[in-house]
Amino acid sequence: MSKKRSRRTWGLKILFAASEAHPLIKTGGLADVAGSLPAALRNLGHDVRLVLPAYPQALERLGEVETLATFEVVNAPEPVRLLGGRIAKSGVPVYLVDSPPYFQRAGNPYTSPNGADWQDNADRFALFCRAVVQLATDRLGLGWKPDLVHANDWQTGLIAPLLSFEPQRPATLFTIHNIAYQGVFDHAAFNRLQLPTPLWSMNGLEFHHHFSFIKGGIAFSDIISTVSPTYAQEVQTPEYGYGLEGLLHHRADRFVGVLNGIDYEVWNPNTDPLIEHPFDLDHLAKRRQNTRALQEEFGLPPDEDTLLFGYVGRLVDQKGVDLILQIIPGLMERTRIQIVMLGTGDLWLEQHLDEMAERYPDRVGVYIGYDEGRAHRIEAGCDAFLMPSRFEPCGLNQLYSLRYGALPVVRRTGGLADTVVDTHPETLANGTATGFVFDDPNASSLWSAVDRAALLYRERPEEWGKVMKNGMRQDFSWNRSAEHYVELYRRAIANPMPNPLVMG
Ligand code: ADP
Repeated sequence: MSKKRSRRTWGLKILFAASEAHPLIKTGGLADVAGSLPAALRNLGHDVRLVLPAYPQALERLGEVETLATFEVVNAPEPVRLLGGRIAKSGVPVYLVDSPPYFQRAGNPYTSPNGADWQDNADRFALFCRAVVQLATDRLGLGWKPDLVHANDWQTGLIAPLLSFEPQRPATLFTIHNIAYQGVFDHAAFNRLQLPTPLWSMNGLEFHHHFSFIKGGIAFSDIISTVSPTYAQEVQTPEYGYGLEGLLHHRADRFVGVLNGIDYEVWNPNTDPLIEHPFDLDHLAKRRQNTRALQEEFGLPPDEDTLLFGYVGRLVDQKGVDLILQIIPGLMERTRIQIVMLGTGDLWLEQHLDEMAERYPDRVGVYIGYDEGRAHRIEAGCDAFLMPSRFEPCGLNQLYSLRYGALPVVRRTGGLADTVVDTHPETLANGTATGFVFDDPNASSLWSAVDRAALLYRERPEEWGKVMKNGMRQDFSWNRSAEHYVELYRRAIANPMPNPLVMG
């Protein structure tokens, strides 16, 4: 069916609710998805509108906005305003929920400048959810009512439960980007928020005598999704489910894994303005120049013959950075190996990385901080990219690595398992190998994968080149994933979930 025809016949009205979205505000992968997916859906001909809290950064970056409505929200300290604007590049319309006492703050969406969670996060995001419900039921008088609300992560978890009290509710889809973050608060908070009393039940929001935002999204939405098929299986087990495995298993017939895409305009090695020497599949010699530039940027001797490993990401337990730290001394016993690392996060990991850079000044380069440009240059310059995550819902950096010709070395978990094909004789022969995959979350398992990578690099450089090209040919653009979401939207609209409170 042609795009034109699908545009006329199938255009859906979707309200996309999230607590962050690139380019307005970003702390992690959720922002990348909330920036790219609505734009891709719009290209498929659907009327998608984004709704976010009005943080100062979002207001500043959105530019011109108009006040569309001023309204009361239960428990809000003052009337709330709905502002309207549009993301210039993608054309996606944006609504901002403006409650200055809650959202006009320094720091990031969830924490104060010193890194501590805002004490009133339950109140802040409950207000956001309530405002979204008023918008989604067209009570704000905009003359627009979505067919479906696509909510994301715990901050939007109360939308589906609150909509369940509405007679003419839109369909709901809830996406889990990382189940480790749940929005769990005590009973006193539940009371303070004046949430409908029936929601305090086992089939509602109650979770081990507390109440859980994310449980609301999971229990009440017509469809639940997460960001890779393997993670969808993993979170149904106690090891990965953080206490929600039973509920997710119970809802398995409406629970789906859809891989995230990446923005192929931003992450294109041939047009990337953040790297010095653009390259593509047919001009890989130029890639070596990025390697040399990267070595210089990190203060390492620019050695042509070095195998250069890279890491970019939050410095937290999830990412297995400690496993990398454990294998560095062993790696340094070998010649012609260097490693560059970029990240910010837990203090002890930051300090440990700095110590490694001091100990091996010619071999280990470390930059503590958030730096988009460096992230691009690491992908463009390193030979292999390390991602030994303990769990990884989808992961974006391994997708950037594939596109930029850095062979990913990943643990077989979540989206990493779904996107990287291990290199062994069979996958080399049939042309599917794209990286190196290991199983156990420990240093020896990572070491053996790194060892295999080093061996291929040294002993069989022509095979290395083939694996690199296999990776660069993969398609992880948003189009495919956006079409999958459209299918799920239709399924949710056609098959509403019976209210779990009524089901008993
Ligand atoms: P997560 O969402 O768990 O942090 P993802 O791999 O899904 O991990 O996405 C992380 C995103 O943040 C990627 O776009 C990555 O490049 C970026 N990123 C993380 N840390 C840094 C950093 N220190 N500097 C630049 N970009 C970073």
